[in-house]
Amino acid sequence: NTNGGNWVKSFEQGNAGMKADLGGKGANLAEMTNAGLPVPPGFTITTQACRAYYASGARMPDGLVPEVEAALRELETKQQKAFGDAAQPLLVSVRSGSVTSMPGMMDTILNVGLNDETVRGIAAASGNGRFAYDCYRRLIQMFGNVVFNIEPIRFEKLLHELKRKVGAEQDRDVQAEGWIELVEKYKELIVKTCGKPFPQSVDEQLWLAVDAVFRSWNNARAKVYRKVNRIPDEQGTAVNVQAMVFGNKGDDCGTGVVFTRNPSTGENVLFGEYLTNAQGEDVVAGVRTPLPIAELEKEMPGVYASLKQTAERLERHYRDMQDIEFTVEHGKLYLLQTRGGKRSAQAAMKISADLVGDGLLTKEEAIARIEIGHLDQLLHPAIPADAKLDVVATGLPASPGAATGEAVFDADTAEERARAGRRVILIRAETTPEDIHGVLAAEGVLTSRGGMTSHAAVVARGMGKPCVCGCEELRIDMEAREMRAGEVVIRDGDAVSIDGSSGRVILGEVPLRSAEMSAELLQLLGWADGIRTLGVAANADNPADAVKAREFGAEGIGLCRTEHMFLAPDRLPAVREMILAETKQEREIALAKLLPMQQDDFEGMFRAMDGLPVTIRLLDPPLHEFLPNAEELRQRTAELAAEIGAGADAADERRAQLAGLEAMLRKVRSLHEANPMLGQRGCRLGVLFPEIYDMQTEAVFRAALTCIRVGVKVVPEIMVPLVGHVNELRFVRERIERTAERILGDQADSCRYKVGTMIEVPRAALTADQIAECADFFSFGTNDLTQMTYGCSRDDAEGKFLSHYVDHKLLPDNPFQTLDRDGVGQLIEWALRKGKAVRGDLKTGVCGEHGGDPKSIFFCHAAGLDYVSCSPYRIPLARIAAAQARI
Ligand code: ADP
Ligand code: MG
Ligand code: MG
Repeated sequence: NTNGGNWVKSFEQGNAGMKADLGGKGANLAEMTNAGLPVPPGFTITTQACRAYYASGARMPDGLVPEVEAALRELETKQQKAFGDAAQPLLVSVRSGSVTSMPGMMDTILNVGLNDETVRGIAAASGNGRFAYDCYRRLIQMFGNVVFNIEPIRFEKLLHELKRKVGAEQDRDVQAEGWIELVEKYKELIVKTCGKPFPQSVDEQLWLAVDAVFRSWNNARAKVYRKVNRIPDEQGTAVNVQAMVFGNKGDDCGTGVVFTRNPSTGENVLFGEYLTNAQGEDVVAGVRTPLPIAELEKEMPGVYASLKQTAERLERHYRDMQDIEFTVEHGKLYLLQTRGGKRSAQAAMKISADLVGDGLLTKEEAIARIEIGHLDQLLHPAIPADAKLDVVATGLPASPGAATGEAVFDADTAEERARAGRRVILIRAETTPEDIHGVLAAEGVLTSRGGMTSHAAVVARGMGKPCVCGCEELRIDMEAREMRAGEVVIRDGDAVSIDGSSGRVILGEVPLRSAEMSAELLQLLGWADGIRTLGVAANADNPADAVKAREFGAEGIGLCRTEHMFLAPDRLPAVREMILAETKQEREIALAKLLPMQQDDFEGMFRAMDGLPVTIRLLDPPLHEFLPNAEELRQRTAELAAEIGAGADAADERRAQLAGLEAMLRKVRSLHEANPMLGQRGCRLGVLFPEIYDMQTEAVFRAALTCIRVGVKVVPEIMVPLVGHVNELRFVRERIERTAERILGDQADSCRYKVGTMIEVPRAALTADQIAECADFFSFGTNDLTQMTYGCSRDDAEGKFLSHYVDHKLLPDNPFQTLDRDGVGQLIEWALRKGKAVRGDLKTGVCGEHGGDPKSIFFCHAAGLDYVSCSPYRIPLARIAAAQARI
């Protein structure tokens, strides 16, 4: 034994802090056991054992067998039963349990220990043959599926046939004789399919089950889930072996799932579902539609009371909303699992804020716990209240948010169409873990069966996808690929919408509006602002976005890309005129047309930000981006030339048009660059064509004056892009200062402006001390800085090799999404140090995609930057992440 006798821990030996070793399920079973809660006893085979199993090529590690046997003997003593004993047989469940919860992704087998002999023992001891054989048929089905890989549908077919034969509506109507017959059918199926019988040796059952659970760590759906949720592949799963308790022994028995609060809205009420006379998986698998937990209060008031009390106790103990599995055996409550409950983004905010209100969490803890992904979802679209809707059915509101797309009836098709850029709604009778790639690809999920805790609901909530489930009015025909709701038929490819907040299923597309911030979110954001030291500004290029940014709490505009203003269709002609100009004079005429437009833009920005800084970046992209595509232009020119050549007497007008096209084509060709991202762009334009930057700065200062006159405070910060050498900045800065003097005149004191630069060329970062002499601020343009530091083009690399690198783990993250601390981060830190040494009050920030990425925000805080700037919709997220960075 290489492990010093430590492959196995009894529930008494563990606690909630041991998740890495015991898995989440095992650690929490241990914690509950030691808190004195009614948990059936058992033990956990650690994740270390699973890792050792994989390391040795799928062999049980040395020493595991005797340890498990010893733990099993202990369990037998506790239960006063024996594994495989004919009269008093011990039955156990063999349950997977990963470190990070992966609901339904891996396998579990119940009722292990039943064979032809022990089943008679159970029947005799319980006086209930129906129950004993119900357990046996369940074992064989689960075993056949998990160990022998036989599709569940083949067992279900036999079950349906039997039910038809004995005239049973529901499973619970089947009597002992029926189950005995089914057990034989199941056994035949196994022999026929695998060429070997269902094992009668209980030890063989146990070890095959453990092996299967280990293997289930690497089944296809678990792998997809891990990838989506960034769970490390090396972790492995624990295996819990636990004495069975039975919810299928009669009408005073049952099984269910409860959340301590509503996982969709966050409301503080017990929320969940149960089934009487049923076992474990029945509730989650959607075999029968379960009853809401409130019914339990009427059916079994005593059980309900102790469940409610236990739920409250668990919530206080864990200081978080819990998702609890329970079973009732002859009126006695048992707990089988607890974990932090998955919840919608909306619920997460409400629950966190409420727990602070209840004194269970501090503000810092509440902020630290916020899942950043949730904030993304909160700003998800919803259906406007006044929209006219063609509601065809209503199901359960399982995961909030609205989605619209074409109807698709299986996961593979959903994935295919989404890949082709189409928006799809995945429609299934119920989802199973095999559908996960379809859920991932879909805009939203709709099911006709299964409750609020069904697989579809749990997974969709986790991913932030809108979901409506248990919509029983729908008749879904998988073969015909259509669904009927009353008279309405929705076929594959038809437009359909769902509203996961109300449960509505709507025919056709619906308009979606962006969501509003809830009172709880605003409260949390307020707390975050009190904690964070990193500023949060917005990237916005027009007044509407600037207004939005302020609503979301931006403390200024960190990046206004003036070229976006150039691209508006009413401006493009003047922009092209400027580019096509042959002389400086011609260019100035065109620029004079652009000036009032730019001035208008800047006025709008200043007004929206009233007194907050607005960082305006002078023209950055290569000029050819504003001209038509060369190939198209060549074709149009050729066509027109041919037309004119054919008709001898062409009008002068057409000849002039042709001349214009030819000039444009010449210009496009002359501007062509092999590598435009490293070409004539950024301040290089400002050096070669100073009139352009002059016009832009003049517009800035004129706008400032207009605003100042009407009492709007302005804080313009003019930013020079793509500086590599201090001389470039010095040249541009001098001209900016001259323009400022000329325009502002005696108003100079009321318009305190700054001139700074992007640091996005590695040379600028390296010579930051020289550059700081000329700059009031640095804004790290991490998109370009990453592309130049890595030497890979963002526009080309992502689709070609970067995703391959990330998939194959050559890189931990896509460096264009998450700032590369080791490389690009060093340049930033270096530039900060050198820059601040020269100018202590140098203002520093990051703009670009990284400004809205949580991990990158953590870096920015640690590096000592003053602010990050990101898109308006990511501002709330950045405020929370900045606070988390400080906690
Ligand atoms: P999953 O991770 O898929 O939820 P679990 O291991 O939690 O798998 O088990 C599946 C179902 O079986 C759950 O409903 C659970 O409560 C039930 N179950 C597991 N072990 C036992 C047991 N020892 N007695 C009764 N029910 C059990
Ligand atoms: Mg479970
Ligand atoms: Mg750039």
